[in-house]
Amino acid sequence: MRRSVYPSFNEVRPMPERVMVVGGGTMGAGIALLAAGAGFQVTIVEPQASARERAVGSFAREAKRSGDASPALRIEWADRIEPRDRVMLAIEAVPEVFELKRNVFLELANALPADALLASNTSSFSVGELAGIAPNPARVIGLHFFNPPTRMRLVEVVQAEQTAQEAIDRAFEFAERCGKTPVLVADTPGFIVNRVARPYYLQALRALERGVASVPELDALARSAGFAMGPFELMDLIGLDVNLATSESVYQRTEAERLEPAQSQRIMVAEGLLGRKSGQGFYSYADGKAERFEPEAAQIDEQPNADEVVAIVGLGVHAQDLAELIGQRYANVQVVANDEMLDEVLPESTIIVDAGDGASDRSEIIAQLDAAFEKECIIIADAYATNLSASARRMRHGERLVGFGALGSVASQSAVEIVNSEEASDDALELAQELFASIGKAAILVEDVPGLFLGRTIGSIVNEAMIAVAEDVASPEDVDEAMMLGANYPGGPITWGREIGGTRVRTILKRLADAEGEQFAPHRSLWLLDVEAVPAQETPE
Ligand code: NAD
Repeated sequence: MRRSVYPSFNEVRPMPERVMVVGGGTMGAGIALLAAGAGFQVTIVEPQASARERAVGSFAREAKRSGDASPALRIEWADRIEPRDRVMLAIEAVPEVFELKRNVFLELANALPADALLASNTSSFSVGELAGIAPNPARVIGLHFFNPPTRMRLVEVVQAEQTAQEAIDRAFEFAERCGKTPVLVADTPGFIVNRVARPYYLQALRALERGVASVPELDALARSAGFAMGPFELMDLIGLDVNLATSESVYQRTEAERLEPAQSQRIMVAEGLLGRKSGQGFYSYADGKAERFEPEAAQIDEQPNADEVVAIVGLGVHAQDLAELIGQRYANVQVVANDEMLDEVLPESTIIVDAGDGASDRSEIIAQLDAAFEKECIIIADAYATNLSASARRMRHGERLVGFGALGSVASQSAVEIVNSEEASDDALELAQELFASIGKAAILVEDVPGLFLGRTIGSIVNEAMIAVAEDVASPEDVDEAMMLGANYPGGPITWGREIGGTRVRTILKRLADAEGEQFAPHRSLWLLDVEAVPAQETPE
């Protein structure tokens, strides 16, 4: 446990009843209303009359929505920081300019009692650097709220090197009294959420630069995996400039090549294509709302399909999931879970689905199937672990090979990615799409690049989450919780990693790294996803 340098700060004190919020803009006004709603007396320091008016307007709207006007009555305004005895917590939410925050911290340190907690809502600066400014750095902490603070449940409590345990305890108590879920995070660039979310945008942009599919198709694929919004519609909503600024800041501070912002985004920002607010981003908002692409809903026949004879080859959860789903829709389904028993696949098979084990290269098996079966039998194979275009070129009948990608449990994904390879015939592609449609999955065509789209994007998010845990940014549970509460992710990335399998994520990223550079290299801790629990700190391999 860290010790405070100021003895008075170590005394057990009752929870402060007055909170000072410095800056009454988007975040400050929301934090103030939140604290007032939790029963604190709040002083907002805001020099701009226009900002005050906006804030008061937002308080009135919130009072109307909730039917409770009393929180706003606990808020008073000041136009500068003045000495206050009873303020025990100050939260600064002035613009993200270091000099400005520095001055505010100096003023707060002079004006407030020596044991008052000083918090910053900074998204990108080091809390430790801000703490260095205060005479008693042990009482300085990060309280990173999300927008809008009244609704978003997460608060990242940022512990700088100098922060005392008492400060952390008091910050947790404050956040919990405000009805929030605090998670403890080390003072590292982007903390948890802004860092682990980076690959969602970066890898989507890289996939677009590589022509994997169109913007609406990639967004639809992301939604099919459970995200509320695709990466491009989300960047348009956030503002490409704001999103890029976060990426640039995380990149500058980490100097990690894998987090380097995409050039295409820099160009769009320079050209003023900022998303909704400028009327044009990845989508056009000239006529109001952008058109969303919704893949054609799969038609499920009442009667099981008796025309095809389907064999599912592979071992493990991916193969089992497919076997179960396909078994419900097709009358003739055979499961061959052992590669040694390939000669048992029925000679009259018309579709062979090779799911493999999700992690090993399947080109040899595909070659064997190609040699053994009539050219009318199509082969649908997992494209995450194997280079299918290369396999197709080596085959007798490459035109019958169709690649597909489904992460984790197929049952939870509403669409699968299908490789739109030059080699595959239209008939084979159609039959593959029909098969996935019959089990309720829309098919979205993508180019054959390592990891396709979802493997690349979600694999990279899992990787980043594991790197953050290995670097001791936060515990695995807190990383998962933070991404669900702070970024509205449908699940925690570490839990996804477990569902997909550490070896499978590793295989996908390894192929990506071979093709695009070592910066995509799978982190050495990914194997932990295949064991019982991911420890909070890195364990040597
Ligand atoms: P904002 O521009 O909406 O509000 C900042 C306010 O601070 C303005 O009203 C400004 O008049 C006031 N201000 C400027 N100098 C001041 C001073 N010396 N004393 C008192 N008030 C002063 O900015 P914001 O979006 O609310 O961001 C504030 C902080 O919160 C930044 O550090 C930002 O990185 C962080 N943050 C923002 C978001 C977000 O989504 N907007 C989310 C999390 C964290």
